[in-house]
Amino acid sequence: MIAFIEHSLPHENNDAQWQEALKEIQGTVDYDSIFTSLAGKDFGGMKRTKPAAVVRPASSFDVATVIKAAQTTPNLTVAARGNGHSINGQAMANKGLVIDMRAMGGDHVVVSAEESYADVSGGALWEEVLKRCVLGYGLAPRSWTDYLGLTVGGTLSNAGVSGQSFRYGPQTSNVTELEVVTGRGDTVICSPFLHSDLFFSVLGGLGQFGVITRARIPLQKAPDMVRWIRLVYSEFDEFTRDAEYLVRQPKEDSFDYVEGFVFVNSDDPINGWPSVTLDSDQWFNPDFLPPNSGSVLYCLELALHFHHHHPSHVDSEVERKMEALKYVEGLRFSVDLSYMDFLLRVKKVEQQATASGIWEAPHPWLNLFVSKRDIADFDRTVFKKILKGGIGGPMLVYPLLRSRWDSRTSVVIPEGEIFYLVALLRFTPPYPSGPPVTELVDENKEIVRHCTKKGYDFKLYLPHYKTQHEWKQHFGSQWPQFAERKSMFDPMAILAPGQKIFSRTH
Ligand code: FAD
Repeated sequence: MIAFIEHSLPHENNDAQWQEALKEIQGTVDYDSIFTSLAGKDFGGMKRTKPAAVVRPASSFDVATVIKAAQTTPNLTVAARGNGHSINGQAMANKGLVIDMRAMGGDHVVVSAEESYADVSGGALWEEVLKRCVLGYGLAPRSWTDYLGLTVGGTLSNAGVSGQSFRYGPQTSNVTELEVVTGRGDTVICSPFLHSDLFFSVLGGLGQFGVITRARIPLQKAPDMVRWIRLVYSEFDEFTRDAEYLVRQPKEDSFDYVEGFVFVNSDDPINGWPSVTLDSDQWFNPDFLPPNSGSVLYCLELALHFHHHHPSHVDSEVERKMEALKYVEGLRFSVDLSYMDFLLRVKKVEQQATASGIWEAPHPWLNLFVSKRDIADFDRTVFKKILKGGIGGPMLVYPLLRSRWDSRTSVVIPEGEIFYLVALLRFTPPYPSGPPVTELVDENKEIVRHCTKKGYDFKLYLPHYKTQHEWKQHFGSQWPQFAERKSMFDPMAILAPGQKIFSRTH
């Protein structure tokens, strides 16, 4: 276990002052409890810290109170914690104040059906947003993540991508208004038209500029049903050609969801053929594979929305849209399920992984955005060589379109119009049943080194660096603007110390 010490303890004589200030809080303040211990861990399971206190806010007033309390000290920091699903301690504040945003969560999803939007708390889980919008109003947000046990504030601080992003952009491109408490302690309502500097700073801003306490999410009519399809490819160029073809088609000629993944050409139950089928009565028959198939294979994953009253249209629509695709004949799988079940599909994986103990084990995950220009080379070296035996979990790879990303936000992505999300979602049993975590972290580093050495047009997604120099390289030409935004909205560098971008100043 690696423990990071980010900042020294605030001076003892200041403790009384900030603790006094926290007495204004309407929610709760915990100094040593289950909450402080939870806030010192995350999904990555590789870092442990101990906050000075955890505040469970009742309102944005409480959030502002915490930030103002930290301002009275020389070095106390504040981290908003969503659902703690970061990998590398990004939502932690060692010896600082953690704001547990889940306290302002589930009940705070207010839908305006007439105007087709939902006002949701920054601490609401996307799963809570889904249930309230679909079950209550038959409406749904356009852009999702695969897994919905993440908070709205947490994903909006990064990007939030899934199989709908090729059409609608990431979640950061699907929000029309925010309430933010800045690092100065000001509570501000912002949008593309009002305090737009703050609005675009915060989106993809890695928690650096303010705490998102409310977000307005546009909604559209939710479908009842989804046809979920998986198509197998033995050649990477055929897989990418079809995936890119689909993401460039107009809506009426494409699917509502396009993703893809790499799997191992073997009968391994986790990494191989069985990971592709969608139902227990389906069987992956390897006899269909071309004889020259390599060590890894590819799966294009599609979904088409439909309504109960039009089921007969689905078959013909699917066939028409798939006509041009060159997948391996015989290796096509599909299943019909409700829209809710489709969006909650990863919850089932969570339940199984929790039962087998690998949900709680360390997760040295790596997420990258790799430009179309370099993705074939990436496949040759990373998928076909370094990871040819699989990683014990999904290896996602699917195309996104730069033009769907709002360039005014803080997110950085590759230069090319088409780039791929590559997500190496490692699930391995804890050492000694599985490999040591350090070995897997080193493998991730080797992959990133390879991308750098080959001069790929790539960026880390959910980035993690230890020095400002590395952050400057990550942001590239966007660094001066990022730093300027920091001095504007959080000049004392109080917020999100776990990202290790800026150090607290007086
Ligand atoms: P946390 O980990 O708690 O926080 C992340 C960062 O945001 C921290 O810096 C924190 O300080 C800051 N923050 C949190 N809340 C706020 C707020 N209200 N205001 C300002 N800053 C805040 N990502 C995708 O894009 N697509 C996926 O499909 C996807 N699937 C995932 C599946 C799993 C199982 C896991 C573990 C992660 C997945 N992610 C995915 C990554 C996920 O989007 C990020 O890890 C995200 O940060 C997690 O949200 P959280 O609510 O747990 O945030």
